[in-house]
Amino acid sequence: MERIFGRPIVTQEEMRARIKELGKQITSDYTGKDLVLVGVLKGAYAFYADLARAIRIPVRVDFIVVTSYSKAKTSGKVKMVTELTEDIEGKDVLLVEDIVDSGLTVRYLVKTLAKRKPRTIKVCTLLSKPERRTIDVAIDYVGFKIPNQYVVGYGLDYEQKYRNLPYLAVLDKVGDQE
Ligand code: 5GP
Repeated sequence: MERIFGRPIVTQEEMRARIKELGKQITSDYTGKDLVLVGVLKGAYAFYADLARAIRIPVRVDFIVVTSYSKAKTSGKVKMVTELTEDIEGKDVLLVEDIVDSGLTVRYLVKTLAKRKPRTIKVCTLLSKPERRTIDVAIDYVGFKIPNQYVVGYGLDYEQKYRNLPYLAVLDKVGDQE
């Protein structure tokens, strides 16, 4: 059965305004540094494209693909299934995520990328669900803190669909997480 969207919880206008602020902040924090933006696919693709263009210093772009949730649930397993194409040794890496939930993905990715010896590694996420955190992870830039609901749109999926929705919405059928 097709799911029906609930109301948007973050509108396109709110998204635009917040990403502009994040871009400004990142620009100021990384001026004079060798910034590599590492996007976590697929979920971060829309945020990444907007964020990169809101940053006013030259950056290198790179991407990794991780396996994550099937349907609305976690498998509990995180795996990096592609490699970086850039050499990040000595560079300033900013990991760009769609959402930090339990924190397991970010912890795994930071640990894995740290082995490539970047000068610094920080994390920027569009969304964070602080109440769902099971481990303590440092998040340096957060777009929006959201409650315990399963969200779709703006890059985020449900069963690989809805990523192209231009705003963030709660799916009615899987909206409330336990
Ligand atoms: P974590 O490892 O922090 O528990 O989960 C991070 C990943 O879980 C995200 O990159 C995303 O793929 C998925 N995820 C967590 N919450 C949501 C959600 O509300 N909606 C969608 N579409 N994916 C989510």
